Amino acid sequence: MIVLKKRIYLSPPHMGGHEEQLVAEAFASNWIAPLGPHVDAFERELADFVGVAGAVALSSGTAAIHLALRLLGVGPGDTVFCSSLTFVASANPILYQGADPVFIDSDPETWNMSPAALERAFIDAEKKGRLPKAVIVVSLYGQSADMPSLMAICNRYGVPVIEDAAESLGATCRGRASGTFGKFGVYSFNGNKIITTSGGGMLVSDNLAALEKARFWATQARDPARHYQHSELGYNYRLSNVLAAIGRGQLRVIEDRIRARRSVFNRYYEALSGIDGIEFMPEAPYGRSTRWLTALTVEPARCGVTAAQVVDELAVQNIEARPVWKPLHLQPLFRGKAYYSHYIDGSVSDRLFENGLCLPSGSNLTEDDQEMVIKQFKKCLK
Ligand SMILES: *Cc1c(COP(=O)(O)O)cnc(C)c1O
Repeated sequence: MIVLKKRIYLSPPHMGGHEEQLVAEAFASNWIAPLGPHVDAFERELADFVGVAGAVALSSGTAAIHLALRLLGVGPGDTVFCSSLTFVASANPILYQGADPVFIDSDPETWNMSPAALERAFIDAEKKGRLPKAVIVVSLYGQSADMPSLMAICNRYGVPVIEDAAESLGATCRGRASGTFGKFGVYSFNGNKIITTSGGGMLVSDNLAALEKARFWATQARDPARHYQHSELGYNYRLSNVLAAIGRGQLRVIEDRIRARRSVFNRYYEALSGIDGIEFMPEAPYGRSTRWLTALTVEPARCGVTAAQVVDELAVQNIEARPVWKPLHLQPLFRGKAYYSHYIDGSVSDRLFENGLCLPSGSNLTEDDQEMVIKQFKKCLK
């Protein structure tokens, strides 16, 4: 009989101990319906944590990106620049709005949007007389993009920025929270993120009037009338009071979660960074990465194995590793969309996708389990 080893997950939920009591409060007051006091409190607490004027709690990070695009007036015929190396949810809302994405490569030092590629995309767009309506900058794997450099370029062209900080809640850039540089910031509380409500998201901004509009659209755009009256298109995008209670509990332990994930990274780094052909995602000098996921590249010529083979071999050992995001400019969904690479004749995100993988990085990963991952990872190398 084969005894399967206990599965080691990539990034499982990690409750902090306060959540059940907060959820019990929601039950005791019968605030099970969407909205309620936990939603208001979660919005205020998250806004305070990252240092912005306000926040709107939503059913997902994707919903937050969608509302941000609509707030910026993105519609059919518009273009939107977006990081290429990311999860599809960063760009799907561009299509929801009937607009056209243009993808921007990564910088090898940060894995996030390349200022050089962004600059070239803007120069071309200006020549064509077709500046983008917005730029979606994604901050991957717990690390903020180089926001001051990217903001300077976007500001020069007068184009607003949406920060997809779904993976970087708690990260900083020059002392400021990731997600607070653009006109709008987006966080996700999906099950595998650094804190989770099982599913949920947040839109943040210093523009409170815009957030009020987002709230209106997110609750079916119901006009202030006794009867149900609607003058604008709306969505059912709000977070429930029960899930907001979980979020409040999670937010109380976020600094512990960041410390734990950074320790996980450090243990991998100590064990594996000396191996020829292994390179870890660098931590940019301008801020703190949460190391939401430990990401690294495996050079096949030197390691005798590809990243894909490592992921497959770890899966046999019941260890959940994952390839780095497949860049959106390579996705069938976005075939034919424009793409600007970091080097004139070379793409960074293509190479990161070919050679990159993420190792189990949960804040509740035990040292024994991590030792097992390290042992099995080394076994994969020829
Ligand atoms: C998780 C994620 C999202 C989407 O968040 P959901 O809450 O799952 O909708 C968007 N962008 C990135 C980069 C993500 O990792």
